[in-house]
Amino acid sequence: MDYTPQDEALIAARFDSLLASCEKICRTDEDWAMIRRAFSVAKDAHKGVRRRSGEPYITHPIAVAQICVDEIGLGVKSVVASLLHDVVEDTDLGLDDISRMFTPKIASMVDGLTKISGVFNNESISEQAETFRKMLLTLLDDVRVVLIKIADRLHNMRTLGSMPPEKQIKITSETLFLFAPLAYRLGLHAIKSELEDLSLRYRFPEQYAEIEAKLEAAKKKRVKVMERFDEPIVKSLRENGVEFEISERVKSVYSVWRKMQQKQISFEEIYDLFAVRIIFSPSPVIPEKTQCWFIYELVTDLYPSRPDRLRDWITFPKPNGYEALHTTVMGPEGLWVEVQIRSERMNAVAERGVAAHWKHKEAPEDEVASDEKFDAWLSRIRDALSSPTEDAVDFLDNFQKSLYTSEIVVFTPKGEDRKLLKGSTVLDFAYDIHSKLGASAIGAKINHKIESIYTVLSSGDQIEVLTSNSARPTPEWLDHVVTTKAKHHIKNYLRKTGQSNIERGKILFETRMAELGIAPSGRVFRKLLPAYGSPTKDEFYKNLGAGTISLDGLQDILRQNAASKLLKFWTLFQSDNDSEEEDSVPEEMVVAECCIPIPGDDVTGYRDPHTGKIFVHKTSCNELMRLASQHGKNIVTGIRWSSHKAMSFLSVINVQGIDRIGILLDLVGVITGELGINIRGLQIQSHDGIFEGEISLYVANTSDLNALIAKIKKIKGVDKAQRING
Ligand code: MN
Repeated sequence: MDYTPQDEALIAARFDSLLASCEKICRTDEDWAMIRRAFSVAKDAHKGVRRRSGEPYITHPIAVAQICVDEIGLGVKSVVASLLHDVVEDTDLGLDDISRMFTPKIASMVDGLTKISGVFNNESISEQAETFRKMLLTLLDDVRVVLIKIADRLHNMRTLGSMPPEKQIKITSETLFLFAPLAYRLGLHAIKSELEDLSLRYRFPEQYAEIEAKLEAAKKKRVKVMERFDEPIVKSLRENGVEFEISERVKSVYSVWRKMQQKQISFEEIYDLFAVRIIFSPSPVIPEKTQCWFIYELVTDLYPSRPDRLRDWITFPKPNGYEALHTTVMGPEGLWVEVQIRSERMNAVAERGVAAHWKHKEAPEDEVASDEKFDAWLSRIRDALSSPTEDAVDFLDNFQKSLYTSEIVVFTPKGEDRKLLKGSTVLDFAYDIHSKLGASAIGAKINHKIESIYTVLSSGDQIEVLTSNSARPTPEWLDHVVTTKAKHHIKNYLRKTGQSNIERGKILFETRMAELGIAPSGRVFRKLLPAYGSPTKDEFYKNLGAGTISLDGLQDILRQNAASKLLKFWTLFQSDNDSEEEDSVPEEMVVAECCIPIPGDDVTGYRDPHTGKIFVHKTSCNELMRLASQHGKNIVTGIRWSSHKAMSFLSVINVQGIDRIGILLDLVGVITGELGINIRGLQIQSHDGIFEGEISLYVANTSDLNALIAKIKKIKGVDKAQRING
């Protein structure tokens, strides 16, 4: 099907606009020729295909290319790759053809873009994570591929209105979870902010409209005040010969919304809605940094500042390269105003991030300018990506977190500085220096004072790690590290020792079974695993090998009648999920930690607006009620338990009563003997003839638990028995 005359006119107009933008990047005739060639190849390839909006498909690659030039500051190769980004998928044209028609470099960029084009297409979470990992591998290869991917996402977000609602939810979730943080990390502040605002607009249209209207109103009301605020600054800067531009900024709708959510405050309670940005042309003789502080002084001479709000990102720029000086001062009518001071160069970095480095160094496009901070970040990603033990979902989670975290600077005893993620502990520091040092750490001298390995470090700390040959990493260590490197090495160690436990356990088990003359069949394991509280065979072997379970009761367990003790495996599902099957995203449901519902409990979900996960609470839970009252929109109803196969759940019972000899035996007898339920932990304290205990055990569901509690209550001396986690 050919393009209609109307299509042709529209396409020509869009392409002309792209060509106009390309004036600033094309240097040679070949540059222009390549762009035209890419356009005609793409136009041909997408012939007959329309976007949901009804526009010819080719308008999309044109728009992506234009974003790359105008908003990210990329060059000719990126424009060509953008135009071709969906071509390989939609036509017979191969990479070889592209390599021949353009250049091998462009073919490899298109290849990167094609490989990650399916990133988030209705796959399971782990598949998504795996594809995202691939996307990051291309980031290591050529940052531009990911920058183009972000431009692609931005255009799709700008045209999201024509997508069906369930697609909108999916796309906005991915955008908030990954693309906005990634844009932030790559320094694309304006794009990050737009991605967030667009996501919010489609996700919570009413809240978005409300905040937008209030911001508009506040702006109108403040127009005069802001003019009065700027006036003396302008005067003072001019008198002091500073060449500058001053502009007013209003917080983005999304950042207002987030602040309201996080701090549980109303719009009216947000005091830092307004900011003023001063961008100065650097004087050639005075260092930029000195000029920033000079302007800072002029401003704070005029208005009182809040010292706790001073942000010096000149001495220590943000990990994403952002440099500026921020201060919050009190303007007329008691209005707090943030003042951002930047040089023109700092402003370019703030707006175009990583891409600005190429621009400023005027390096040829292929010569990726080396930026120390960015390189350090890339090398951290490289480390993380090359760690084969970390599962893709974990990786994605850690990576996502790493996008927003900032850094601290600490020192070795010799005064060498090391950059670490904020929140790093002595262990992170030790592993950062060497995995052997990490694995044998037992403590540290921080600023000459002895501290534990779990101590969280602060910028400026000087750390000497204390080691011992007998030290060994434990699973607990994982709760006290934040860096990927430390996690990777600890997990690796635990996995290796876990592996040898598995082998040892397997031998123990097989020997014992041979003695009993029983073949370890699937039926045997179905009985055994729930009885030992192990979800998998490996887990069972591992516990056995590590000595945390014993085979003493093996015969009894095997003798038990499997049919009457079969435990069920429960999952949560949403019964009134009425979105179209093929488009529906598998919901990720998590049991809420505040009330820990177990199968049989009446439950209701709360969708966390940031991650999209559904937290499942007991319907009677107080925390759920608080959430429902404040964010009713995020409540998910219709969640049910459904049973499948053998598995059990951890629950805690509190028992109180009068101490007597033998009561403990009676308790254990009731729990294990009569119901075949598995005790995980037992803690009894007794004083003055009274005893109190907590029993953690695995049960199949509420009715089993209630039956057990009823039996415990009948034990002589027991006064009270109740479930305590909720
Ligand atoms: Mn696309």
